[in-house]
Amino acid sequence: MRTIVIAGNWKMNKTQAEALEFLKGFMGQMETAPDEREVVLCAPFTALSALSKHLHGGLIKVGAQNIHWEDSGAFTGEISGDMLVELGVRYVIVGHSERRQYFGETDETVNQRLQAAQRHGLKPILCVGETKQQRDAGETEAVIRQQLSRDLVDIDQSNLVVAYEPIWAIGTGDTCEAKEANRVIGLIRQQLSDPNVSIQYGGSVKPGNIDDIMAQPEIDGALVGGASLDPEGFARIVNYQ
Ligand code: PGA
Repeated sequence: MRTIVIAGNWKMNKTQAEALEFLKGFMGQMETAPDEREVVLCAPFTALSALSKHLHGGLIKVGAQNIHWEDSGAFTGEISGDMLVELGVRYVIVGHSERRQYFGETDETVNQRLQAAQRHGLKPILCVGETKQQRDAGETEAVIRQQLSRDLVDIDQSNLVVAYEPIWAIGTGDTCEAKEANRVIGLIRQQLSDPNVSIQYGGSVKPGNIDDIMAQPEIDGALVGGASLDPEGFARIVNYQ
């Protein structure tokens, strides 16, 4: 049985005060949310503590957006697994395309960060996906196969979420057609050794397309950027039909 995981990725948005303001609006609309859906808010490091305190182990889980592979040391600007665990964090996004593109993340560092997350009992959300250029060149499958084979070395797939995020669909409003996302996610599943891994779709998910996305048999949830910043909109996404 695969778990449905709907995660908001706030990226570099929301101060602590804004995060708490979001919760006020969001929690009010969560009372009717189906229990079997795991809901995660992946917030900036500075808002994690406040979110955890207000959610205190309830239905909604707190996630971070990165983790360093070492447990401590001379790594200016980085955050370790212990630091996240202490704040009540349960999930962590690893290998988001923005980190790969702007911060020099490679499949090797993604793998090390995944290992660190699992070592600390955090559930990593591994992001994979192709660029527009790669898609147009017919390389989607090969690119994803390579990312998975390198990123998942020595990774326990029973404690893992994968997010298929075509880069051309991120923040562009240009969603990957639900059937196509379903097809690629089916290909991803064929490459995993554990059939129970939850695989999300991410890239311009909104209240207007979530029902269609979640109606696809291979898709086990969503990683939502821009549309997760608005409490009503994200609540609508979590409560998809
Ligand atoms: P988006 O971002 O929903 O704003 O397209 C998704 C993501 O980058 O995780």
